[in-house]
Amino acid sequence: MKIEVDKGSGFCFGVVEAIRRAEERLESDQLLYCLGDIVHNNSEVERLRSKGLTTISQEQFFTMHDTTVLLRAHGEPPEIYNYALANNIKLIDATCPVVLKLQRRILKSYQGGNKDDTQLVIYGKKGHAEVNGLVGQTNGEALVVEGIEDLDQLDYTRPIVLYSQTTKGLDGLHHLSGEMKKRAVNVPVKIHDTICRQVANRIPGIRKFAVRFDLVIFVSGKKSSNGKMLFDICSSVNANTKFISELNEIEQKWLNNIDSVGICGATSTPMQLLEEVADYLRKLPTD
Ligand code: SF4
Repeated sequence: MKIEVDKGSGFCFGVVEAIRRAEERLESDQLLYCLGDIVHNNSEVERLRSKGLTTISQEQFFTMHDTTVLLRAHGEPPEIYNYALANNIKLIDATCPVVLKLQRRILKSYQGGNKDDTQLVIYGKKGHAEVNGLVGQTNGEALVVEGIEDLDQLDYTRPIVLYSQTTKGLDGLHHLSGEMKKRAVNVPVKIHDTICRQVANRIPGIRKFAVRFDLVIFVSGKKSSNGKMLFDICSSVNANTKFISELNEIEQKWLNNIDSVGICGATSTPMQLLEEVADYLRKLPTD
C-alpha cells in the first residue's frame, strides 16, 4: 500500500514561534504558565507539559499575580494585558504577528468608526480565542458572524466594515461579503480580506494532494478552525476522507480494499504526528 505524508502540512510559522518561545523559557525555568492550550493538538500540549508548560484557563489567570504567563499565537484581548500589568504578571507575548497586525487594524477602525456610526463585523467562530481577542479591540462591540444565517443581526442602514478571522476560508468570506453587499444597498460595505496566507495558500496544495489517494486521513485537534476548514476542502475532493485527532481513532476497516493513503493536517498539527500516523499504518496488517 502506498502511504504518503503531505509535505505542505505541519505547523505554520506563528505556532512554530510560540513553541520556540515556550521552549526557550523552559530551558531556564521548570514551570511556565500558558493561557489556554499553546496549540490545538494534544500530543504537542502533552510534550510541552512534560517540560513544564502548564495550561491555565482565563478564570485561573484572573486569580494569579507575581508570575510569568505565555500568551499563545491566537492573541488576547486588552483586559488580559491590563490585568497582568496591575498584578505583576510578566507576559511572554507570542501573539502571531499576523494576528497582532489584525488586532491593530480593528482597533484603528473602531476608534475611527464612531463618527459615521459604522458597524464593525468579524467573520469568525464565536468564542474562538482569536476572535475574542479581536472583539476585545472594540470594547466587545464588534458583531461576530459565522455564516449567512447570522446576517440578520446587521443594520443595513449603517455603514459596515468587515474583517475576517485569520483562519477562515476565502470562499466563505466571498460568499458572506457578496450577500452583505446585496442587502446594504445604500450604505458602504468595506470588506477586509484578513485571512492568513499560511492557511489560504495551503488550500490548492491540499486539494491536489487529497484527490490522489483512495483514502485520506486528516489529522487535527477538534477545536482547530483551520483544521475544520482544511478537512472540508479534502472531503469536497475526496469523499473517503477521515478526520482523526489521535492515532487510536484509526479504524482498521478503513484500509480494506485500499491501495493508497494520503496523510495531511492543520497548521496546528505537528509533522511528527503525521509521520507517526504513516508509521502506524505501515505496521498494520492488510488483507
Ligand atoms: S495560521 Fe497564520 S495567523 Fe494563525 S498563527 Fe499561523 S501564521 Fe499566524
